[in-house]
Amino acid sequence: MTDRNQTLFDRAAQVIPGGVNSPVRAFRAVGGTPRFVQRAQGAYFWDANGQKYIDYIGSWGPMILGHGHPAVLEAVQKAALDGFSFGAPTEREIELAEEILKHVPSMEMVRLVSSGTEAGMSALRLARGATGRTKFIKFEGCYHGHADALLVKAGSGLATFGNPTSAGVPPEVVRDTLVLEYNNITALEEAFALHGKELACVMIEPIAGNMNFVRASVPFMTRCRELCTEHGALLVFDEVMSGFRVALGSAQSVYAKLIPGFKPDMTVLGKVIGGGMPLAAFGGPREIMRELAPTGPVYQAGTLSGNPVATACGLATLREIAKPGFWDALSARTQSLVDGLKGVAAHAGVPFSADCQGGMFGFFLLPELAQNYAQVMTSDSPKFNKLFHGLLDGGVYIAPALYEAGFVSAAHTEADIAETVRVAGEVFKTL
Ligand SMILES: *Cc1c(COP(=O)(O)O)cnc(C)c1O
Repeated sequence: MTDRNQTLFDRAAQVIPGGVNSPVRAFRAVGGTPRFVQRAQGAYFWDANGQKYIDYIGSWGPMILGHGHPAVLEAVQKAALDGFSFGAPTEREIELAEEILKHVPSMEMVRLVSSGTEAGMSALRLARGATGRTKFIKFEGCYHGHADALLVKAGSGLATFGNPTSAGVPPEVVRDTLVLEYNNITALEEAFALHGKELACVMIEPIAGNMNFVRASVPFMTRCRELCTEHGALLVFDEVMSGFRVALGSAQSVYAKLIPGFKPDMTVLGKVIGGGMPLAAFGGPREIMRELAPTGPVYQAGTLSGNPVATACGLATLREIAKPGFWDALSARTQSLVDGLKGVAAHAGVPFSADCQGGMFGFFLLPELAQNYAQVMTSDSPKFNKLFHGLLDGGVYIAPALYEAGFVSAAHTEADIAETVRVAGEVFKTL
């Protein structure tokens, strides 16, 4: 049989750089041929050969209800009939903003945009504009989209600031980006001691999903909050991935339960709030958000921002996940996957650790959970690649790189989880 995935990949490579429109899709980390998706339904998708997979990527998080949820489909179809885009305001934008704010009370106002990159970039500009400061802290292994100032890796020392991680990013653009180790309180305290009064913000993924799955420890998060408050820097939560994915109140609600009175100053959202359509947002207290144009001096705009079809999709998605019982069921399903994988890994004698929150999970081929990027990268990459391909051949699609998180949707059944664990058990025996 000819492999249509390979045929399409070869054809794509002629007209699209690397054959893909976002690099990780090219399977460079794991090798092999990317699967071209033909269609998806519920917890499954089918590739160009008609092969079916249990989907644990869910578009990297947005498909929390699974693919083709009837209520979402209906809302999107109805909205499309009324028009694709107007470049003028609509009532649905207010409804979506209200729905978001209802569940994430640290924000009083929110601005809708079209991608997480745009939201992160705009939040940084606003943090700088609102504080009148330029420098900021980010953490190694956290991804905040591909804006220039955020594509930075750690420099050689605390005083030296970052180096660009991409060609085309001028060193002067990242001169004010300070990159620290995640979960390292000492480094954080040193950085504030050196630069505290010049810092506009600390930007962080509270539960990092772009270095597999790594939680900020409670003492570390507590210190982030204290130091920001003490020095007048804003604590910016990038919840593009964790927002409405780990809990209805997002990761900040998880930390608020552990740290009395805790809240970030600003929040960046994306992925789930669009339900699979291009939609993202950033928000915070009124006094900060008022600094944005047209009420304030910080410019930000978008032709397709608050798009009527995207907002319909996001709104229908958020209304479904706010229904009683949704989070208990999703969390239990994710937990049973993690427990099942731990069981078969232990049985096969494979070093394995895993964690989850709500509908997001991660696992490491390591005896202990990683706490930072360097630890994540000590994972056995050839072994991961073997596991990835074993699962794929068995009809289970996880992220094609060991530094990515996984996602369970409400459409995944106990039978899907059991099948996944069974396939994983077979593959673990061969590792
Ligand atoms: C996905 C992601 C982004 C970027 O969002 P895009 O919509 O891909 O631009 C930013 N921050 C985090 C934490 C993400 O997971």
